[in-house]
Amino acid sequence: MKKVLVLTEAKYGSLRGVSLEMLSAAHRLADGGEVIAVAIGNEAIYYANELGKHGAKKIYIVGNKELDMYITEGYSQALQQIIDMVNPEAILMPHTAIGKDLAPRIAARYDLGLISDVIDVQVVNDVVIFTRPIYSGKAFEKKTVVSGIPFATVRPNNIPMKEINGTTEIVRLNVEIKDIRTIVKEVVRTSTGVVDLSEAKIVISGGRGVKSAEGFKPLEELADVLNGAIGASRGACDAEYCDYSLQIGQTGKVVTPDLYIACGISGAIQHLSGMSNAKIVVAINKDPNAPIFQVADYGIVGDLFEVVPLLTEEFKKV
Ligand code: FAD
Repeated sequence: MKKVLVLTEAKYGSLRGVSLEMLSAAHRLADGGEVIAVAIGNEAIYYANELGKHGAKKIYIVGNKELDMYITEGYSQALQQIIDMVNPEAILMPHTAIGKDLAPRIAARYDLGLISDVIDVQVVNDVVIFTRPIYSGKAFEKKTVVSGIPFATVRPNNIPMKEINGTTEIVRLNVEIKDIRTIVKEVVRTSTGVVDLSEAKIVISGGRGVKSAEGFKPLEELADVLNGAIGASRGACDAEYCDYSLQIGQTGKVVTPDLYIACGISGAIQHLSGMSNAKIVVAINKDPNAPIFQVADYGIVGDLFEVVPLLTEEFKKV
């Protein structure tokens, strides 16, 4: 029975799905013990209920004004104070830009090992086993912790959320923040879609085959109908058809949607490493020998400018 601490995350005022997925992982880890959530920012009061419904027994809401926007030094000071207070036996953070920045710093402060990018957590005979992809998703390794407490970052969209009944205590507090050397003046949103790419259940991705920025329009229309997010290959980003924030792959984002529709993407290994764990891959390419078809569950050989609008029309009818 462990006491597990989870750092939850919200974006533009809404709770990120990975927060609830981590609570579900935390319950497996806790094995009947206590799951404690930390939410930074006063807006957390609006989604605290949701955290409670997914098994957070206690929620610390850190309300410092200076933490309204993410800042490494401020967040790590806040988290350290809560870790010292709670004394957890396991810690989970999201494998997002924030988690990836913060977790190594916290691990170093407490001299802990960090297992990053986990996609599964199991407890077998009291041993915690984390699973994480390696070699660009071609293999999976299982890791256990031999010294210190288990500490991991969790990849979004992999561990199913679970509703768990129980009571929740909400603790609002301010922490001591000092010697901040960085100020965030403004956050500029670069993503075009309303759905966050790394957590989207459906991703419509465009490659060099879309031929221009204008060529993304049919993909955006399909994304609108399916409530999906737009992604891209590096080929499309390099050609300036879209912003690099949309790039999926080895040097871009890693996505694990239920459905990935690759339009005009050849399927280079560097691209596959960002999307090959999608549950269903649909490829649209006019070259029947394009390597993307080797990883696709469904392949459509054809011109994307004909196929994508037809799909949009069909999905509108559903
Ligand atoms: P292309 O390979 O040019 O393919 C375009 C495809 O569109 C072709 O298959 C063509 O048949 C098809 N097509 C053309 N017109 C149409 C049409 N009208 N209808 C249907 N199909 C059409 N790439 C990434 O994506 N992500 C990464 O993170 C990444 N990291 C990299 C890191 C390194 C170190 C290196 C060296 C490379 C990396 N790359 C990455 C680049 C990668 O190797 C490929 O160059 C890139 O993925 C190709 O993009 P593409 O598939 O859009 O373009």
